[in-house]
Amino acid sequence: MPAFDPLPLLRPNIRSLKPYRSARDDFKTGILLDANENPFPAELHPEAQLNRYPDPHYDALRDRLSTLKGVQPSQIFLGNGSDEAIDILIRMFCEPGKDAIVITPPTYGMYRVSADIQDVRVKEAPLNPDFSLDAASVIEAAACAKLVFLCSPNNPTANRLDSGQLREVLSAAQCVVVVDEAYIDFSAGESALRWLGEFPNLVVMQTLSKAWGLAGIRLGMAFASETIISYMMRVKPPYNVNTLTQQAALRVLAEPERISALVKQLLQERARLAVALAKFPAVYKVEPSDANFLLVRVKDALSWYKTLAAENVIVRYRGDQLHCADGLRITVGSPEENEALLKAFQKLSAEIQQPSS
Ligand code: PMP
Repeated sequence: MPAFDPLPLLRPNIRSLKPYRSARDDFKTGILLDANENPFPAELHPEAQLNRYPDPHYDALRDRLSTLKGVQPSQIFLGNGSDEAIDILIRMFCEPGKDAIVITPPTYGMYRVSADIQDVRVKEAPLNPDFSLDAASVIEAAACAKLVFLCSPNNPTANRLDSGQLREVLSAAQCVVVVDEAYIDFSAGESALRWLGEFPNLVVMQTLSKAWGLAGIRLGMAFASETIISYMMRVKPPYNVNTLTQQAALRVLAEPERISALVKQLLQERARLAVALAKFPAVYKVEPSDANFLLVRVKDALSWYKTLAAENVIVRYRGDQLHCADGLRITVGSPEENEALLKAFQKLSAEIQQPSS
């Protein structure tokens, strides 16, 4: 395979960008009088040294993730959620008013929003009605685009994309292909991370917001070639991952076994919910799931959505998205939350069958 060079795809102003140099780019230790920080730690979490700026290169976290994920620290970008990685990739590669990205609806909404904010065109190569990738149409759309966003497992459809087709797109597309794996820890499929050495146009995104239970700290990851990551690091704000986030992430990443046990429990709940929901007469399909949510097809889904909310059970209506007619996206909760969901379904089912006069 001819080596793919992503550099020509970068916006010229990004290629020639002289990045900001923070004090911590020069020295990390010593009597640090170089960053106009306050020498006195705030009373809040004094042990966390919040009077100091965070490590802009988050070296400790990258080292830990390097071991966990089997990639080099220089192949890791960290952001304020993976939403920041999406935004940075679009700003790095796409010229406003000129360039385009490819998305595969129905899919995660932020690819389009981030592109719209940048005045970047969005080309659609929809998934097939069974939610599989239409690889040929993605490759065709990619011909005049800078970035392709593929989400596997996909939100809101819950399925993972076929790895043979992902590889087909990676080989054929002359642009950067982002595989968003926010839900990979719930999937029976393998991560695209194992192809990083093979495809210089591959970016894999993951997050601590889902399986790791840390949506509140906002930590997203992008893995790619050293070249792509080096530009992401230049474009990001210098201190984009705050100290409390770095410390919390390090603590949780030290205990992967604990998280595996929690994921296992969620997967059992997912299976239990799928079976239980399928028994309600109004539910005519529970789509297979590789994620921590189920896409459930219910007759008259919009009114179910509203009446469930009136019962204090909040799910996401997705019936208005392509191929998702009658779709409710239901997150797998704790056993108690799932019980409450099933109870509400039970109650509303009974009411439908015996409408009050
Ligand atoms: N990608 C997908 C597919 C998602 O569903 C989400 C969040 N719902 C994100 C990315 C953003 O995750 P983060 O919390 O890391 O910004």
